[in-house]
Amino acid sequence: MNPNRRRAAVLALSIVAMLATLSQNAGAQSAPRLDYTIGITDAVKHLFHIKIEASNTGGRTLDISMPAWTPGWYTIRPYASNVIKLQAHVSGKRLQMKLIDKQTWRIETEGNKTLTIEYDYFADNLNVNGADLTDKHGYFLGTSLFFYVPGHTTDSPARLKFELPAGWRVATGLKKSSEPNTYLARNFENLADCPTVMGDFDEFVTTALGKPIHIVVDPKGQVAPEAGEKLKEYVSRVIEAEGKIFGGLPYDEYWVLYVTGKLRGGGALEHENSTNVMMPSMPSDPRFVIGVTAHEHFHAWNVKRIKPAGLIPYDYSKEQYTRELWFAEGFTSYYGDLSARRAGLMPVDDYLRGIASAIRRLQNTEARKWISLSDSSFITWLNYGGQGGGFTNFTVDYYGKGELVGLLLDLEIRGATSNRKSLDDVMRHLFDNYYKRARGYTNEDVEKVASEIAGRSFTEFFAKYVSGTNELDYDSALKHAGLRLVDGKIADLDAVTDAQRALRRSWLGE
Ligand SMILES: [Zn+2]
Repeated sequence: MNPNRRRAAVLALSIVAMLATLSQNAGAQSAPRLDYTIGITDAVKHLFHIKIEASNTGGRTLDISMPAWTPGWYTIRPYASNVIKLQAHVSGKRLQMKLIDKQTWRIETEGNKTLTIEYDYFADNLNVNGADLTDKHGYFLGTSLFFYVPGHTTDSPARLKFELPAGWRVATGLKKSSEPNTYLARNFENLADCPTVMGDFDEFVTTALGKPIHIVVDPKGQVAPEAGEKLKEYVSRVIEAEGKIFGGLPYDEYWVLYVTGKLRGGGALEHENSTNVMMPSMPSDPRFVIGVTAHEHFHAWNVKRIKPAGLIPYDYSKEQYTRELWFAEGFTSYYGDLSARRAGLMPVDDYLRGIASAIRRLQNTEARKWISLSDSSFITWLNYGGQGGGFTNFTVDYYGKGELVGLLLDLEIRGATSNRKSLDDVMRHLFDNYYKRARGYTNEDVEKVASEIAGRSFTEFFAKYVSGTNELDYDSALKHAGLRLVDGKIADLDAVTDAQRALRRSWLGE
């Protein structure tokens, strides 16, 4: 490149940068901004105190909403019913407000551009998608606790400040600010995506592919030093196995929050740079938490970054329908176990036994003949969390069947390409060409990408197994790895070729 052209290029770049700054500022000026302070009214009565400084409000009214659900946990929740003594004021003068739907209040701003909103929040729900406060600890996920301004969940940054009792600390994936006990969020989506533990907990720090991994256990004292070392090692190994699929980790730091106690509901939930795992107590052998940790961590790509188009942006106000949960959850389950296997934390026999039992579960589910993966994803709002007829009667488990479709697709791609390509390439392609280009995907996109990578059409495969209810052809896929299904167990073919053995080793990371 000659010097003149270089100058022109530099000038063009600085104009682009200037325009980008101008448009960012324009966005920041037009969007109302909420900054939050979380304190405690009465820990014994489970009452948080939340104070919100609203600025740049504009207009005569400001609407504020509590979310009606938590991304990843597809159930409507009455979070707004925990809001107590809600008021908005300017310099101590109360502003009029009224409810306009089950979770939204309209504040008469009287033309004020800045105002204060305050409320207590009843937090007695130790649950992945809830909030809990006692005199021992605090826990919350922002969806259950914080108001947002409808229409402005992605365009306005926020600050979150903690007013903590003596001796308490904070663990959260939010970015630390230079001020003490203060964190920064890109926007409401980011704020609501970071589960947070407050109190005096154990923290183990390790690294994976050069990135810090924080492992928090609350309450403290549950993990003996030797088990703590093992926990660090296992978590790090499984994260590295997953990171290798994508050529690195997609965040600066990652937080694994293991929270135990008297739960309202167990489980675990995925986030961009963290996961909250809830159990009655920590198991003595850290190996037992690796499966769930591997699953949730894989979601850092699959569903938190590689996102179904229908979930962009999140609509916190109501059910958000998507036909892709079989991929978002099922393929995450597939890779969770496969990564534990590849990290050497699960013997091959155990891994194959796991697949065999997933097959048994599906084949014992009558509903597989009646409802497709696509429909069971779509209708998750009717039964997520176990209400209704349950997975076995009303619908098919898109985790379990999705995992098996992931297995079949992986082995069919490997078979079609003499093991030169695999499902790993599909995942990497979706990350590079959908997430990195700010696009969501649909079932049709997955079919297209898989077909391109395999060099063969998967139209019939998707018609039968994703939008249809045909029986899965396990043996057709397993034979590529020299395996077959015999009496509900996975066994070697009578004669296994060298190519089949090589494919199996590469697939399972032996
Ligand atoms: Zn999941």
